[in-house]
Amino acid sequence: MIRYALVCDGSHEFEAWFSNSAAFDEQNQRDLVECPQCGSTGVRKAVMSPAVATSRKREATPESKLKAMAAQVKAHIRSNYDYVGGDFAAEARAIHAGDKPERLIYGETSPAEGEALRDEGVPVAPLPDALAPTPPKKAN
Ligand SMILES: [Zn+2]
Repeated sequence: MIRYALVCDGSHEFEAWFSNSAAFDEQNQRDLVECPQCGSTGVRKAVMSPAVATSRKREATPESKLKAMAAQVKAHIRSNYDYVGGDFAAEARAIHAGDKPERLIYGETSPAEGEALRDEGVPVAPLPDALAPTPPKKAN
């Protein structure tokens, strides 16, 4: 088995396993290799950056440091914040007004609603996609 770092024509990066390099070429030619994010079959092998031969320990690139940081932020939010989904605005207001006990929450709201909350003095901040944790699966 061989693992390839792949990239689609929409610049999504992903990895896939093939039995050998010929298998990848063949499957890709027959449009059987699909981007898991957008379903594009315009897939090619990603260009790998060469390992630095001079230093024994490979330096973490700013990119990978950023990714590691983002993962930490996501994990932190997931374990310390309660997910309230679409009730975010209502929950944030209730907590701010003292109607509900203070706690850390995250969830979804519209940009306009987020703006309104900030105007009301409710301390909220939008999370960039890269830092937003995947919401926990709904328990039902
Ligand atoms: Zn894609």
